[in-house]
Amino acid sequence: RLEIRNLVRLFEGKAVVDDVSLSIQPGHVTCLLGPSGCGKSTTLRMIAGVDIQNSGQIYVDGNLICDTVFRVPPERRSIGLMFQDFALFPHLTVGENVAFGLSGPKEKKHKRVSELLERVGLFHFIGDYPHSLSGGEQQRVALARALAPRPRVMLMDEPFSGLDDRLRDGIRDETLALLKEEGTSVLLVTHEPEEAMRMADEIALMRDGRIVQRGAPYNIYKSPADKEAVAFFSDIN
Ligand code: ATP
Ligand code: MG
Repeated sequence: RLEIRNLVRLFEGKAVVDDVSLSIQPGHVTCLLGPSGCGKSTTLRMIAGVDIQNSGQIYVDGNLICDTVFRVPPERRSIGLMFQDFALFPHLTVGENVAFGLSGPKEKKHKRVSELLERVGLFHFIGDYPHSLSGGEQQRVALARALAPRPRVMLMDEPFSGLDDRLRDGIRDETLALLKEEGTSVLLVTHEPEEAMRMADEIALMRDGRIVQRGAPYNIYKSPADKEAVAFFSDIN
């Protein structure tokens, strides 16, 4: 379970993330939905531990991982990452990529890698290099890699935006199913209302650093809080 409380990030005196609080249960997906520049990626970077907030706290499974004085390093936060440009390592095989964040005995690692690659239907690529896979296949390997160490939380920043429309729906559905099976708390950033409607248990609408509305996708779609939100949802029906 991920919980963030009153996160604030200032750049040159301006609050780019302005008092953001969220809580995400295991196996649930919250979509942070908002226009370019509203502070989505900055929020994710603080949770991942690659940026530091000016105030506020972050908890994973009830344990404090970061406030303004105390900081658990990124690799010890039990947080998985999947970003559009967070590519596979080209010099490692598919299997080695998925095993990358794993420690412990070789057989145990191999078991986890095989299980995940089978789950995403790519076990036959285990010894191949990423360049011989399609974009969609590489994205599935990236998902397996992110999930391999069984993170409690998964942060995804526009993970499907590099894929063509034909592939995207299938990968979205597969990704969602696997994340639910693993019981991971997911924070998914997108600026596409349609993606949020499809994947979210809860949508948090973000505007100028603030969360202006939160709720179930259907409720937000039916009664958007402001004019911008209406415009935002107007192109899906
Ligand atoms: P997009 O949908 O385009 O990815 P976003 O919602 O992810 O947008 P952020 O990347 O979080 O937006 O940026 C929010 C604001 O903070 C922007 O105005 C951006 O210019 C500013 N910003 C981000 N990083 C920095 C930085 N290191 N220094 C100064 N300003 C920054
Ligand atoms: Mg961004």
